[in-house]
Amino acid sequence: MKNNDRTWVEIHLDTYRANIEALKCFLSPDQSFMQIVKADAYGHGALEIAEQALALGARFLGVANSEEGRLLRLQGITAPILVLSPSLETEIASLIDYDLTPTISSWGFAIAMEDHLHHRGKQMPYHLKLDTGMHRSGLSRQEFYKFIEQISKLTELKLEGVLSHYAASENDPDFSREQEECFFELISSIKPQPSFIHLANSSALINGLASCGNLVRLGILSYGIYTHPQQRSLIDLQPVMQFKSRVSLIKDIEKGETCGYNRLWMAEHDTRYALIPAGYADGYDYLLGNRAEVSIGEHCFPVIGKISMDMITAEIGDKPVSVGDEVCLMGGAALQTHAENLVAGYNGSSYELLCQLGRRARRYYYLNGQLCSSSPLSRRDFVPADFSDSKLNSIIEAAVLQRLDSSEIGSIVYREMLSSLFFDKDSDIHYRKGFRHSIKLIEGDSPLHYEVETELSYRKVLDSEYFIVACAQSETALQAYLKRKDVEYRWLMDDNFEINPDSFIVSSIKVNELRLSTVSRHKNGCLELRCSHPELNTLLGKEVDFVINTRTIYPRKSHQMSIFITELTKGISLSFSYPEDWTGVECIPIFSGQNRYPKITRSGNIIELSTSPEEWIFPLSGVVFAY
Ligand SMILES: *Cc1c(COP(=O)(O)O)cnc(C)c1O
Repeated sequence: MKNNDRTWVEIHLDTYRANIEALKCFLSPDQSFMQIVKADAYGHGALEIAEQALALGARFLGVANSEEGRLLRLQGITAPILVLSPSLETEIASLIDYDLTPTISSWGFAIAMEDHLHHRGKQMPYHLKLDTGMHRSGLSRQEFYKFIEQISKLTELKLEGVLSHYAASENDPDFSREQEECFFELISSIKPQPSFIHLANSSALINGLASCGNLVRLGILSYGIYTHPQQRSLIDLQPVMQFKSRVSLIKDIEKGETCGYNRLWMAEHDTRYALIPAGYADGYDYLLGNRAEVSIGEHCFPVIGKISMDMITAEIGDKPVSVGDEVCLMGGAALQTHAENLVAGYNGSSYELLCQLGRRARRYYYLNGQLCSSSPLSRRDFVPADFSDSKLNSIIEAAVLQRLDSSEIGSIVYREMLSSLFFDKDSDIHYRKGFRHSIKLIEGDSPLHYEVETELSYRKVLDSEYFIVACAQSETALQAYLKRKDVEYRWLMDDNFEINPDSFIVSSIKVNELRLSTVSRHKNGCLELRCSHPELNTLLGKEVDFVINTRTIYPRKSHQMSIFITELTKGISLSFSYPEDWTGVECIPIFSGQNRYPKITRSGNIIELSTSPEEWIFPLSGVVFAY
């Protein structure tokens, strides 16, 4: 793959699927699995992993907190989501709003949630967490019997599952057995038995510690990272994530010279090293300095010296390495760069390494051997250029769902506004690109009005075989035209003028090379021109160029002219040309979108406002020219 990134993350969903299939072989016929997608699926992308997991039969998704669950809901995930950590009372509203199942292990939380549910007139399932030896969250054996009796009296919270968690399923079978027995003893006293009973994480599953219960929670092994060396003989897994970069510089270093901060590595002989533009700010752990290896092509090379914030160095000796060569820092074919082997060098955690790696990198997703999507560089920001039409659609839908919580992100408010005002929720949003609108006021002969020539051009996906150009005679009529989807262009005629075939003329209207014909009709004092061409249907669904020219009139008594943007638009240029002898024409932009201050240029008697072609402008933007 060729990209322009310095560092990037590849997520191989095919590998994830293969890992899940391999893990499923360890499930008994009555067992299903919960995919753990907390911490953005251990850095792999919660949405993408969740979608694959559900397609492979996952019954639940497991997240760390309500916010992670909410994000999945906003992205359209409807499957059951269990919040694994104890929730705070401040998260209850979100749990209820987004149908997130809490894990409960405290009475205070249980009654607070019951109370909320009662007020909302809603019932919800919960899972009860037991502490069988981990001693983190969960009810102890002593607390358990009284608690289960009390909580079963609550009417709105319904027991759906019971769980506990192993403290050392990967390396302490004896202690794990004790935990399993304790769990078994406690759950057998629950009448009736809840629908889901779960204890095992992924290591427990392959270590034969999952016989208790009907649900297994799969985390690290599904991402292809072993938690114990002996596991390799039990199951064949491959890392789903690869963290990559490329060589940015190659340098010679002489015997006795040192490389990097604090001079922690010294050349034992004349050699060469490669500079790689990734550092601990990219999540490549500081402790990997002088310990890790990277792979370039067929070979692995030692990382020399300390890890810098943005760079690392690897000794390449006389091996054929060139600037631009791809470097694999984690994952990939070489075992040396597998997370578990990298962290072994500094006694670190592979869970941590996965979560932290590539946080300033773009993620590329592969499915069926092909690049299928990529996530934006900075996932917290809305970068419209990163989204396709349909993605933008779903985001807008989510924003609408968010209506009551819209204080969160300013841009969501914009899009929410846009969606409710201008679009049907379930249709595709076709935005206009390269929007140019020029208006030319000409002195003319009439004492009452100026003559006006307008030209409007833009690119847009054609979604109908005809469209309307309308001239409205009142503000109300104009509003009605704004709501109609088949109206491409509207002009407001001053009340004092009668609309007739001479006062509003469409002089030319083109879609690509087709010259459209118009049929005009008067309706409630307005003029509607139906524009069509027999061959327009061949362009349906395609992006086409619209060019609309009109000639009309504008009252002399008015001392301003406004142009409004009525649709989501990418890149605009608005120009106003006025009679040569005018002076002091002002231009007041009212823009919403990425750039609220378009570029204003004046030349002679023309004022032009423009943005870059990549900039998004939201509806209700516009400009007023005052004179
Ligand atoms: C994170 C987590 C898991 C997944 O554990 P792995 O070791 O990654 O398989 C399972 N259960 C709970 C409660 C967790 O928090």
